[in-house]
Amino acid sequence: MNRSFNKANGMIEEDPDNRKRIFLVLIAASIILISYLHYSTNPGIRDLHNVFAELYYIPLLMSAFTFGLRGAVIVYISISLIYFPHVIMNWTNATPFVANQLLHGLFSGTFAFLAGYLVDREKRNREQAEKDRYLAGLGQASAAIVHDLKNPLISISGFARRLNQGKGDVDTASEAIIKSAEDMEKIVHDVLDFSKPHNMDFRETGITDVINEVLEYCKMKADEKEVVLSVYLPDEISTISIDRSHLLRALINLVNNAIEASDKTGVVDVMAEFEKDSLVIRIKDHGAGMDKETLENIFIPFYTKKSSGTGLGMAIAKKIIEGHKGKIIINSKQGSGTEVIINMPRDEREIQINMRRNRDTV
Ligand code: ADP
Ligand code: MG
Repeated sequence: MNRSFNKANGMIEEDPDNRKRIFLVLIAASIILISYLHYSTNPGIRDLHNVFAELYYIPLLMSAFTFGLRGAVIVYISISLIYFPHVIMNWTNATPFVANQLLHGLFSGTFAFLAGYLVDREKRNREQAEKDRYLAGLGQASAAIVHDLKNPLISISGFARRLNQGKGDVDTASEAIIKSAEDMEKIVHDVLDFSKPHNMDFRETGITDVINEVLEYCKMKADEKEVVLSVYLPDEISTISIDRSHLLRALINLVNNAIEASDKTGVVDVMAEFEKDSLVIRIKDHGAGMDKETLENIFIPFYTKKSSGTGLGMAIAKKIIEGHKGKIIINSKQGSGTEVIINMPRDEREIQINMRRNRDTV
């Protein structure tokens, strides 16, 4: 069974200020409504007034949840000030009345205080946990980078020392030094690529050119492993508004992963086609596939199963594709291979230009 995993689904996030504004209006409206019911209802109908008094818990609860302790206390004082004249106007010295008013005031005050305090404590705990998680992530990321840089660095210093002592073969040593320096360069590039904000420069670009350039970049790695890159591309005229260098980077990462996962003499298919109003790129290998754990962690920065991997390729690719308002979907089956599907919306305006161009050339 093919496992389909999509971590790139967009989520609509609520604006917290907007939510607070809505709750503020609801709190004010409910206080006004409940107070109106108190003042407009015959004071003799005690049971009804008791019910109305209980209704004040609704704005109290809303204020505690939305604004914490401070909000709950302010709302409690406001309700007390509005409700107080009604109590005075209908004051009787009967013990149940006095006890009822006092108890109600005391309970609702304690309730507001407690609810607000608990909400504030929960918020503080959540913020602390977030800070801890961030610091732990930062620590892990730094450890991963240092770990990745350590091996090539040891190799460079080892070979350089041997050269300095006149030991070993110069060609072998210089080749090893160059290879290690290239590994370090790749790690540094990946980390920079991942950490710096991506300022996208969108330009109308022929997709055939981009894919061909990706294949040029990946050819050496494929040849080394005798992997065949099989390509299916749309007509020359197909263009899309993209940031060329960033999309190149994302696609190179994905094709390199496919080559690395392939067996010797395997085939990697790279396909691009326009479907309705989007560009779909598929990179399919017939290699090892992924287990559940890899599928679940694949977009997490620094997650790698390779001894010489940085674990940043997929995270960078996802960030870049999302920068194009696109989605990245992985279909993978252990032992059969992996298909990475990229779906990027095409600029509405550009589709029309292209359709016109196509019409003109027919
Ligand atoms: P890296 O390639 O440096 O390990 P990536 O972020 O590119 O980092 O990939 C993370 C992990 O996802 C890889 O280590 C590998 O286990 C898995 N992976 C990525 N692409 C494929 C693929 N096409 N087939 C199988 N596994 C893959
Ligand atoms: Mg990779």
